[in-house]
Amino acid sequence: MKVLVPVKRVVDYNVKVRVKSDQSGVDIANVKMSMNPFDEIAVEEAVRLKEAGKATEIIAVSCGVLQSQETLRTAMAIGADRAVLVETDVELQPLAVAKLLKAVADKEQPQLIILGKQAIDDDANQTGQMLAALLDWPQATYASKVEVDGDKVKVTREVDGGLETVQLSLPAIVTTDLRLNEPRYVTLPNIMKAKKKQLDNFKPADLGVDVTPRLKTLKVSEPPKRSAGIIVPDVATLVDKLKNEAKVI
Ligand code: AMP
Repeated sequence: MKVLVPVKRVVDYNVKVRVKSDQSGVDIANVKMSMNPFDEIAVEEAVRLKEAGKATEIIAVSCGVLQSQETLRTAMAIGADRAVLVETDVELQPLAVAKLLKAVADKEQPQLIILGKQAIDDDANQTGQMLAALLDWPQATYASKVEVDGDKVKVTREVDGGLETVQLSLPAIVTTDLRLNEPRYVTLPNIMKAKKKQLDNFKPADLGVDVTPRLKTLKVSEPPKRSAGIIVPDVATLVDKLKNEAKVI
């Protein structure tokens, strides 16, 4: 079973991003970039499936700027066998990514595609769902457990107030939630090994996909600053302020 794992290069989750002065987006110049955390979980899950003898080959794929190669090398250091970069400088939106991934899936014919539930930069939570629609494959989002059995995959999903278990026929799409696994640390020998693994490079035009943006970001702004709190002398004053100033009770 071939497993395809789309991985996105995003601003590292530890970085406190700053909005550009013209409010057109966030400043990513000289900012640390890393693999989207949910995609790391997806790669880890694919590697565990391979270690368990369920998957035979893992292909990591990233769409974006040339530097996304670094993200793909990390995926190969975790255990992906080879990688595909769809290189473009155009700012990609989820529909464009889903179309590119569909084209890669048509070429590679994987049985399972594991994506992150969302990218922590755009917080779109759309690509997996759109890809499932384009491929006309079943999908299970927010996976906290994935069990492959023959031509089926059983997925436990985190839903409001509990867990839901669904069974899908392969080929299928799964998107990862935080509790699916804890990705392993990447070791130096594996980083060295990853440098020698195959990394193919395509352009969107090679795949016949038009990636022109369909949405325009009108404005990005910082969350409102929190004003300082006050200490009230007693409960009666607190209740009075909640009732008459904050008007919340
Ligand atoms: P999003 O719909 O943007 O929140 O992203 C959801 C998931 O789609 C991510 O966790 C990735 O697995 C995948 N994805 C999104 N953008 C890209 C990209 N440019 N390259 C590869 N995979 C991506």
